Amino acid sequence: MLNPCAVVTGASRGIGREVAIGLARSGFDVVINYAANRPAAESTASGCLQAASLQGRTVRTILVQADIRDSSARIRLINAARDWSPALHLLVNNAGIAPVVRADILEASEESFDHVIAINLKGPYFLSQLAARWMLEQPPTTSNGLEPDPRCHQKIVNISSVSAYAASINRGDYCISKSGLSMVTALFAKRLAAHRVNVYEIRPGVIATDMTESVKAKYDALIAGGLTPIDRWGSPADVAKAVVAIAEGAFPFSTGEVINVDGGFHMRTL
Ligand code: NAP
Repeated sequence: MLNPCAVVTGASRGIGREVAIGLARSGFDVVINYAANRPAAESTASGCLQAASLQGRTVRTILVQADIRDSSARIRLINAARDWSPALHLLVNNAGIAPVVRADILEASEESFDHVIAINLKGPYFLSQLAARWMLEQPPTTSNGLEPDPRCHQKIVNISSVSAYAASINRGDYCISKSGLSMVTALFAKRLAAHRVNVYEIRPGVIATDMTESVKAKYDALIAGGLTPIDRWGSPADVAKAVVAIAEGAFPFSTGEVINVDGGFHMRTL
């Protein structure tokens, strides 16, 4: 019996790693994409095999280095997945970066803008295009050829951020990239609905990863001061649980849907 197959970008560390492990636990074969950190990606692969094995499952993993900024690298990533798996059931656009320098929008550089937009917005947009074309080549599938398996209902999940709507004037490029990614979700959800491919957006809040390590003290203080109704940092596992719920088919009649994983940050209160 074939497992469903997922491609997870930026799966070597942080949120992407937990997503990959959660999907393996659920029985997905996982394409582990990373930019540079191969040892970290190998550690994700071990975590995937171990998590699946604890559930009595056997899954496969493959590591694919590809900088999602780069058109030829995106093609190489999808081709590597195609050579490895007969079908693609899930793309998780997770890879993303914070600006190298947080700079006020009156000072911020074009160089930073181009860099952040290329990775956080252009990469997922064109990777979704490649993945969707492949998905549309496939007939509706089942994992054992007999019973419908909700994991095999094709899906795309975009990991955006509360920065899709919360304006941070010292990292405008990041906010614009995530706001744009929300539109990527809407566009692909609309375009692919007739083909039974559902598209979702997850908006994490403040999550403890390498990305937020340099601003830990700042967010410790903000959370202690009431930034989020649930007064703790989020974990990569919090986000992974939402992705796995989607992957397992918990929202079959929803597409273009936004799921906040933010401790309640998005609520307006009075
Ligand atoms: P992280 O710990 O810094 O990990 C980033 C991951 O992305 C790594 O696996 C890295 O690979 C990969 N990556 C970076 N640039 C890439 C590129 N050009 N091509 C392919 N892969 C690339 O980040 P994170 O906190 O887990 O963030 C994951 C996603 O969640 C991002 O989109 C981020 O914007 C979003 N998010 C994070 C938070 C938060 O508070 N942490 C909140 C909201 C949204 P290497 O290991 O090879 O460098």
